[in-house]
Amino acid sequence: MSGEPQSDCLFCKIVAGEIPATVVRQNERTIAFRDISPQAPTHILVIPKAHYPNAAALAAAEPALAAELLVEAGEVAADEKIDQAGYRLIFNTGAGAGQTVFHAHVHVLGGTPLREGLV
Ligand code: 5GP
Repeated sequence: MSGEPQSDCLFCKIVAGEIPATVVRQNERTIAFRDISPQAPTHILVIPKAHYPNAAALAAAEPALAAELLVEAGEVAADEKIDQAGYRLIFNTGAGAGQTVFHAHVHVLGGTPLREGLV
């Protein structure tokens, strides 16, 4: 698990600027952009620029980068002004859990009451 860009990965293409995205925040190691199909008024994806297939693989290989993803998710929530009302972070892991893009990412969801769900 090297973190190297994968030519067939949609999010690696967004990182490379080959596919456009509405970027709201980025630094050397992470990038945050609006989900193309928002499930809440605020729906932003925060991803590492390095390629790992899911959050668990990322955390196992680069724990500091996994932590940074959470810090950035919190900053996104503050930037979007959803931090006071509350927001939800979701890491879908595996196709059976609904993961469709196999590049680690956290969904930041908010801007509306989020009372329903499995947890
Ligand atoms: P997953 O289902 O893997 O947890 O989440 C992948 C997310 O990526 C989905 O919410 C989907 O709407 C979003 N997505 C898929 N293709 C694109 C794209 O080309 N641009 C952006 N911004 N989001 C995308």
